[in-house]
Parts: sequence; C-alpha cells; structure tokens
Amino acid sequence: MIVQFLGAAQTVTGSMHLVSVNGSRILLDCGLFQGRRAESYERNRTFPFDPSKINAVILSHAHIDHAGNLPNLVKSGFTGPIYSTGATRDLCQVMLYDSAYLQERDIEFLNKRRKDGPPAEPLYTSADVDNTIGQFVGVPYRKSFTVADGVSVKFLDAGHILGSASVLLEIKENRNVLTLGFTGDLGRKDMPILKDPEPMGSPDILISESTYGGRIHEPVADMGKSLLSAVRRTMDRGGKVIIPAFSVGRTQEVVYALFKLFDDEQLSSIPVFVDSPLAVHATDVFRMHPECFDGETLRYLHNDSDPFGFGRLTYIRSVEASKQLNERKGPCVIIAASGMCEGGRILHHLANNVEDPRNTVLIVGFMAEHTLGRRIVERQPEIRIFGEVFRLNAEVVVLNSFSAHAGQDELAGFIGAMDKKKLKQIHLVHGEPAQAEALRTKLKEAGFRDLFIPARGEKAEVRP
Ligand SMILES: [Zn+2]
Repeated sequence: MIVQFLGAAQTVTGSMHLVSVNGSRILLDCGLFQGRRAESYERNRTFPFDPSKINAVILSHAHIDHAGNLPNLVKSGFTGPIYSTGATRDLCQVMLYDSAYLQERDIEFLNKRRKDGPPAEPLYTSADVDNTIGQFVGVPYRKSFTVADGVSVKFLDAGHILGSASVLLEIKENRNVLTLGFTGDLGRKDMPILKDPEPMGSPDILISESTYGGRIHEPVADMGKSLLSAVRRTMDRGGKVIIPAFSVGRTQEVVYALFKLFDDEQLSSIPVFVDSPLAVHATDVFRMHPECFDGETLRYLHNDSDPFGFGRLTYIRSVEASKQLNERKGPCVIIAASGMCEGGRILHHLANNVEDPRNTVLIVGFMAEHTLGRRIVERQPEIRIFGEVFRLNAEVVVLNSFSAHAGQDELAGFIGAMDKKKLKQIHLVHGEPAQAEALRTKLKEAGFRDLFIPARGEKAEVRP
C-alpha cells in the first residue's frame, strides 16, 4: 500500500491523500487549498493524478478545505462514488453550491486583473455541483462497507462538525491485513451539540490532523463563561459584538451557547442576528440529523426548546435586511461569515464596527496565516478591508474554548490510546509546521516512534 500526501501537508487547507492498493486508487478528502487567490486557483485547478482513474472518494466531513474541490474532480473526469455520512452529504449539498457561487465571483475578480490571454474559467459551476451531488453515497457511522477490491471502510464519530467522521480502512493485500486510520478533523469531548470523538482502536498506520498540535485550549466548560463576560462587557459599553464564524458548524455552536445563556437566565435582552443565508440552510440540515446530537441537545429538543431558533434570534437572508443592521443603534450580537474574514457579509460588519472602541470582535475559530482574521487576532493597529484602511479600536476577544479541533493534550490523548507496538507510522498533516512539530515532540516523549510530517507530494509505503 502506498499513501501519497497531496494536500494539507505542512499547512491546514486542501486536505487530500491518495491511497493506492491492489490496483485501486482511493482518495481521502478532496479539499480546496485556500490562500492567496491567484495561487489558490492554480493549485486547485489541476490534480497531480488522472481523476478518471480514481475508484472512489472517502470524505471525512463537509468543510470546504476537505470537500470543496470535489466538483472540480468530477468536472475533470471522476465518475466513481463519493462515500460520506448522510449528514456530510446533506451539508455538502448546501456548501458546494455556495462554493460554486464564490468560485464564479473569484474568477470575475481575477479576470479583471488579467492583462493578457483569454479569460480564465471558474474552478467549477453549480452545474458541476449537480453532477457531484449525484455521486454521493451516504453511509451510517460504524457500518463497514467495501469501496474497492480488498478495501473496506468504517466511519467513526469525530465530534468536529455535524456528520464529521474519522475513517478506518481495513486493507487486505496479498493475504495480509493492514488498517489505516485517518482522523479527518478531530473534535473535542463535551462540545455542544455533537457526540464526542470516538476512539479508533489501533491502526497500523495513522494520518492525524495537527491543527493545534502545539496549543492547549481552554476547557470546553469555560465556553459559556467567557462568552457571557465578553457579551456583558460590550453591552455595558453600549457596543456591538461582531462574531466572524463559518456558517456551518461554528455558527450553530455559538447560537447554541447563547441559547443556553438565555435559557439559564444569565443573559437577557440582547438581540442576536445570524446574517447568513448559508447558515439558514445549514441549520435546516442540522435539524434533519438528530442522530449526530449528544444527550443534552436531544433533551432540549424533546422538551420543545429550540436551541437553533429562539425568541431573541433573527436569521437574516436578504441583502436589504443585512444592510439595515448597519443603521441599528444599541447593543446586539451579529454572527456572520466567512469565518476567517476573507469574504462574505462579515466584511461589511467589520468595516462598520472595528473603529468604535465600544464594540467587540469576538474570535471563535482558527484564523489561518495571511487572512484578515489572523491580523485581527494579532491586534494589528490598522487593518485593510475592501482596500481601505481601518483603525482596529474595537476590543478583540479570542475564545479558544470554541475550537472544533482537539488541542495538543486531546490529540496526544487520542493517539496515546493506540498500541505503540502496532503503529508502524504516524503522519502528521493538517497543521502549520510549528504546530505539527510540537505534536511530534509530544508524541515522541510519550514513546511513539516513526513520526513524520510529510511535505506535499511525499509518499509513504506501508508493508505488513
Ligand atoms: Zn474541518
């Protein structure tokens, strides 16, 4: 068996790994690389293999950096099945159309700046998404299914976003059996809404994410407390709380956490706006998949409470209603995408609010290098939005407790439960080099050997 690391190698986006065994080629994830626009377009456009020769795709979850290049794979000749959980399939239906729309907008921008040559075409369009959705096969958690000759797969709860899975492949090659574990993105215990990450047993080879391989998060239990104090402080100043959040996952978690604060009567009388049509659709998908919910969320729903839609919460779809938020006086909470502030309605809300010291920008998600979100986390005194310079006078609060990614101790605990003698290789992916390196050191101290941080294109051969 050969595994080739083709994305999210020494970085956090573009997750894609190719497993070649028994003459079959299986792709784990097919994510979009996200960085500077022109570079990303070129990187995503062409695949380092022939898409028509791929037998199947196994998709860990619906985030765009894991699923977002699937329509281009289909456009480029892939006709096989895309296996995922049912919730991931339904979320992809919402997210990939949104992504197609953004691709078309991006290419308009790039074409305006192109000086010569014919205009470039979008990475994919909604017609490509139509075809892609038709190739999805939804599979329940913990049910083993065959994807190719001698290769069976099982999805386990990853506790990261709705439908997210870690993937366990059992591979029979020349009468030997090997197991390959792929964490996908690993969540945390006791996160709101979702079930906890499930142990993976002891694979022979492990591909693990390492997003926060060098950081220890605040405990999940502090999430409500930190959120409450940031919101109260801003209310006392008469300001607004602006929360950049991905429409799928983080938005629902923040809404859920606010619902709990209202339900416990710790917070009162502040209106909450979710300014994102995509979040509206995604929340509908959440409601369709109670099989992913933990006990607490199910209890709320059984008691006729609705943690995703409550009295003080308004979901905003139209552009007009979104613009009206700018005129609003007095404290409120505004949640909008994109999560890393690279586009979307959040840019308008930041432009309108960052210069006022009464306001708060509340950061609840990972901010990659070179994004506006990262510059806000770094509290740069001046930031650029829509080409204009703004002074960052608003308070910046970073709540790591909201992270949907396991921290160093949680990753080390997850891997630490595995049999050291059986594990032949551990490959750390989906992390910036410093984070992956820190996790490698931690695992080495715990007695693990054969730890790798593969570069893009690197191959690993695994023999029984
Ligand atoms: Zn993810």
